[in-house]
Amino acid sequence: MNIIAQPQRLNDPVESGIAAYLDEIIALRHDLHQYPELAFQERRTSKLIASHLSSWGYEVTTGIAGTGVVATLKRGDGERRIGIRADMDALPIEEATGLAYASNNPDVMHACGHDGHTSILLAAARYLAESGAFNGTLHLIFQPAEEIGAGARKMISDGLFERFPVDAIFGLHNWPGVPLGQFGFVAGPAMASVDQAKIRIVGKGGHGAEPHRAVDPVLASASFITALQSVVSRNVDPQEMAVATVGSIHAGSASNVIPERVELKLTMRAFTETVRQQLQERIPALARAQAESFGAVAEVDYRLGFPALINHREETDFAKGVALDTFGSARVEEGFKPRTASEDFAFMLLAKPGSYLFVGNGDTAPLHSAHYDFNDAIIAPAARYWVRLAETFLN
Ligand SMILES: [Zn+2]
Ligand SMILES: [Zn+2]
Repeated sequence: MNIIAQPQRLNDPVESGIAAYLDEIIALRHDLHQYPELAFQERRTSKLIASHLSSWGYEVTTGIAGTGVVATLKRGDGERRIGIRADMDALPIEEATGLAYASNNPDVMHACGHDGHTSILLAAARYLAESGAFNGTLHLIFQPAEEIGAGARKMISDGLFERFPVDAIFGLHNWPGVPLGQFGFVAGPAMASVDQAKIRIVGKGGHGAEPHRAVDPVLASASFITALQSVVSRNVDPQEMAVATVGSIHAGSASNVIPERVELKLTMRAFTETVRQQLQERIPALARAQAESFGAVAEVDYRLGFPALINHREETDFAKGVALDTFGSARVEEGFKPRTASEDFAFMLLAKPGSYLFVGNGDTAPLHSAHYDFNDAIIAPAARYWVRLAETFLN
């Protein structure tokens, strides 16, 4: 629980205010961790969140995008409105942490720390309701189904921003490998787009001893996989970022049989629409041409997922300024780099100005690992940050 560097404001009332009930929030985080729920099934989680927020005096709306929750608090006559979003869903992973509060739900795990993000926002919500000094409207948004890239889009199509208009929206993600409690801000592209492809290379099956009578799709797919990386290194501008990964390959079941087909699954990442489009054009063309050169055929099902997360400059500068003012420059990483992972908060930033920021989870297992755990030491500083951000924005 050692946070590097000293806070700038000594005796910060927000810090001591949150410290007074931090134990309860950590217990809540462990409870959420023990009962993780998959995308759009966050019923227990959503109920728990709504009941806490109601008890603190929020006007609570449930049922947006199924399990989504929005909590509203108005104070004074200010016209400014801020949205802060946390995600709630877990992943289909069997937990291997061995923690006392490890998942009770088989094959479901909070391996991305969304239990932590929810707890941080609840910690801030309680302070803001009890002692928040702001003049305007606060909308706290608890989003389902981030992991399948569907929750943000569904909340927006369910009228999120018409029903709860905001002037800006903010969200955060914990980040393993970044020093504990360290804040990171990126203006512009901050997280990558994500698209996927299923490629089936079809040849002609036959006896493993008589390859001349068959068309070997395994050899054709091996050639395609090798050539695939030339899209990144030869087609995409070297100054741009692109990732093409074959994460799954399946063919055959016996050593002496040439199979009929090979099935490949790919994921693609980019920071710009130009690169994204280039991958979308080049990869299917390459798969078809490579297969054809071996006498095989490639069938390509290329599916667009969601766009890169682009932070708005003005709101990012503002968000960074709040961190600098609250914690001092030692706690704000200079030159924080964009991440090649993806995040469906991208859709919210297409609809509204805002910024998505990062908080270091320390030296822990990576996100989506069966050994990952959210670091409770982040809750207090990150909640304090949300309070300061809301108070500064709404004053
Ligand atoms: Zn995740
Ligand atoms: Zn996540």
